[in-house]
Amino acid sequence: LTKKIVLAMITGILLGLLFNVLNSSQVLGATVTDFINNYLTNGLFDIIGRIFIASLKLMVVPLVLVSLICGACALSEGSRVGVLAGKTLLLYLCTTAVAISLALLLALVIQPGVGMEHLATNTQFEAKESPPLSDVLVNIFPTNPVMAMAEGNMLQIIVFALLLGYAISRSGKPGQRVAAFFNDLNEVILRMVGVLMVFAPYGVFALLVNKIALLGLEAIPTLAKYFGVVLLALLIHAFGIYPLLLKLLSGLNPVKLLKKMRPAMAFAFSTASSAATIPVTLQTVEKRLGVDNKIASFTVPLGATINMDGTAIMQGVATVFISQLYGIEIGLMGYLTVILTATLASVGTAGVPGVGLIMLAMVLGQVGLPVEGIAIVMGVDRLLDMVRTAVNITGDSVVSTIVAKSEGALNQDTFNDENYNSVVN
Ligand code: ASP
Repeated sequence: LTKKIVLAMITGILLGLLFNVLNSSQVLGATVTDFINNYLTNGLFDIIGRIFIASLKLMVVPLVLVSLICGACALSEGSRVGVLAGKTLLLYLCTTAVAISLALLLALVIQPGVGMEHLATNTQFEAKESPPLSDVLVNIFPTNPVMAMAEGNMLQIIVFALLLGYAISRSGKPGQRVAAFFNDLNEVILRMVGVLMVFAPYGVFALLVNKIALLGLEAIPTLAKYFGVVLLALLIHAFGIYPLLLKLLSGLNPVKLLKKMRPAMAFAFSTASSAATIPVTLQTVEKRLGVDNKIASFTVPLGATINMDGTAIMQGVATVFISQLYGIEIGLMGYLTVILTATLASVGTAGVPGVGLIMLAMVLGQVGLPVEGIAIVMGVDRLLDMVRTAVNITGDSVVSTIVAKSEGALNQDTFNDENYNSVVN
């Protein structure tokens, strides 16, 4: 399945590129191009892709809820919830702060916006209101668990599941019966994810053909420097900083982790949504990296919701880029403010496509840069969104593994095992 998914990703990208080029060059004449557009890109592949995303999303709420209830039950017995939550949050925030610092540094050295000032004229952008930070905090606490589930509000579901799991573990005999039920249900839901995974290669393929065929590639040459700096920072973070962190903090072999994460990264890349990728990330982290469910069920959904290192990187580079385009110097205090706000913005960014760009308005606003700048970088954002989402979920997995190792909840045999064929068992 892993090979199939990676293959689907590569062929999907290639076919998407081919359609994209055919479309913009019109070499095959209008009839053929129209056929490709109407029946393939926006027809068949669009339909398969959307069904695929729907089936992934379908699994998110039941999986996170049930898996976390089981996890919280197991955790409460050892009463390590507080320590675990503290460590996880600290690591998530620190990795994001490192990510954005790296992005700022690279952007300040490479200066993608210098010489591009002409782009800054005549842009219009209606910034959507980004939520105030106080709301982000208060909204973590659910008033109605059913509503939280209906809306797919991940943080509220996490709080509810943690409370319920804790209560189950403190309820004696009735608690044990309920726990047994949830453990069984968890197995069944995992099987359901497994069934859907069989179709994953087709979904990934269709989604990528559709998305890549529709990308506005013409904006990339103009914004090549910006695009390049974001990409470079994303790559350094994923293949330099994460491996270093994993090695330093847990002594594990990062190459193994990155290899095993490939299918999950392919999902994140094709869906551009950390939230929709949760079922795959969770399965990968548990079954292939050997992280115990009681850790992963908490760290993965939490990470998919609040830990967005890739997004923070884009925001860091975009801030410097826009400040250079408009010739506005924000100074050292400005950059420190960017590190702080982008880290917090990452907490408030939902794991769905394109939200990072909306939250960029908040970062820009904090340091007095014009939000219209967002309109300039928007042209190349979809492709970057795909890459940064893959980085986002890799970060979640690295932190989950580090936390599990430190809590003695990592099965090292599984982590080191080279014989892993399926995303799910
Ligand atoms: N698409 C990203 C994610 O789901 C969020 C963003 O950067 O827009 O992780």
